[in-house]
Amino acid sequence: MADRTGTRYLVTGGAGFIGSYLVNALLARGETVVALDNLQTGRLTNLEEASESPHFHFVHGSVLDELVVDELVHQCDVVVHMAAAVGVRLVVEQPLKSLTTNIRGSQVVVEAAHRYRRKILMTSTSEIYGKNSLGPLPETADRILGDPSIVRWAYSTAKAVDEILAGCYHRERGLPTIVVRLFNTVGARQSPAYGMVIPRLVQQALRDEPLTVYGDGRQTRCFAHVLDVVEALLRLLDDDAAIGQTFNIGSSEEISIARLAEAIIARCESKSRIELIPYDEAYGAGFEDMQRRVPDTAKLRTLTGWQPRYTLADVLADAITEARREAAPRPDLVSS
Ligand code: UDP
Repeated sequence: MADRTGTRYLVTGGAGFIGSYLVNALLARGETVVALDNLQTGRLTNLEEASESPHFHFVHGSVLDELVVDELVHQCDVVVHMAAAVGVRLVVEQPLKSLTTNIRGSQVVVEAAHRYRRKILMTSTSEIYGKNSLGPLPETADRILGDPSIVRWAYSTAKAVDEILAGCYHRERGLPTIVVRLFNTVGARQSPAYGMVIPRLVQQALRDEPLTVYGDGRQTRCFAHVLDVVEALLRLLDDDAAIGQTFNIGSSEEISIARLAEAIIARCESKSRIELIPYDEAYGAGFEDMQRRVPDTAKLRTLTGWQPRYTLADVLADAITEARREAAPRPDLVSS
């Protein structure tokens, strides 16, 4: 086990893209961190920096493993539950496995938190808002529920169950819970493998391949820098007034996917062109997208004073630098 200093955090999904940034930030401020991850989408390379700390410990395991979760929750002071099947491509390709992780896994973690009375931050998603394309969306915005036989809306429903679970444990059992809805988040180390649009389009642009823009490209998103998202998470974890509440975390800088693709081509000085791909071809028959997704983050700002420090231009610059670095051969892996 890790040497103990500061508060002891358990981060489920700690080898994931956002989880690993949170792990690093917690270690940097002197906390002890245990990361639990099944490495389905998380990567050990995300934890290279953390692994150098004597206050960090990695456990390769699943949130579905009740004994492991019980022991780890018992040993920690605060739980951050980030383990989830995420990425539209992943949840569309593996619906049942995704649902099990996202519903049963969360239940195992919350039940353990309740057993030992540990504060728990539950990560949810902007997918919660479903087909509500009004914007900006405050936390009180209506969920416009899609047909649950469409896998995307099944994912949204599963994460809603997680939120309800956390809410019930707070209201009925007094468990200190915080729910955060993460909007699109980008940064170095984000894999293009699970559908996230920026790493995918950047990889295509750097290879001079066509940029695959789904639908007509007029759908919009706001992309937050992962370091801004982690700063918001830390502020909420530190603030007792956040307990029992739900917060949006995300950027408010809105861009259409077609414009995003053009910006990426220009910044990469790529010879790529844009290829519009019908949703059915991209994700299978009956897929439905969110046309617009913009968070209202006033609640987070009012409580914690949080402001994003990075612009979309910064986000793109980082994603491109990282993709170039990943594409280059690593000197330590080149055989002599
Ligand atoms: N998208 C796209 N091309 C891709 C991957 C995604 O046009 O290669 C679109 C996707 O249909 C959505 C937006 O980009 O409208 C953001 O997709 P992502 O999967 O990153 O996140 P989402 O907001 O859908 O969860």
